[in-house]
Amino acid sequence: MINPVNNPKKIIIHCSDTPDEGDRYGIKDITEWHRLRGFDTCGYHYIIRRTGVVEIGRPETEVGAHVQGHNQDSIGICYIGTNHMTSMQIKSLLMLIDAINSRWQIPTEEIYGHYEFNDSKTCPGQDMNVLRTMIDLGLDPRLRPSNLLALFGAKKS
Ligand SMILES: [Zn+2]
Repeated sequence: MINPVNNPKKIIIHCSDTPDEGDRYGIKDITEWHRLRGFDTCGYHYIIRRTGVVEIGRPETEVGAHVQGHNQDSIGICYIGTNHMTSMQIKSLLMLIDAINSRWQIPTEEIYGHYEFNDSKTCPGQDMNVLRTMIDLGLDPRLRPSNLLALFGAKKS
């Protein structure tokens, strides 16, 4: 079966709702759980393990299965955990969003948490206003170390 084509205009963040401790879970587990729910494969496009390792669930151009009513124009990213992201996960999330933006140019205000589309959910267990601010700062080229040096008048070696 060929899945319909995705036309990403937003990014939606999820959590796996598994313990914040350890590095036990990843793409294999999520794929298995989603297959049990009747999906043909992992519903998310990306998984970010506790270690920060990014795993691919499905191609960005394929419609995902992660949020009702918004699968046709979004990319779903799920971090492993419940309400605490590791610093490695945050770093990977920023790099991943940067990479996605190079292909789809998605503005930060179009990055959502699952709960913003479903009142009965708390997923991804993060205050999205805080996360969006962090993403904005993290993606700001002016804040890249080399540019900060320039801002402070230091000479680049
Ligand atoms: Zn979710």
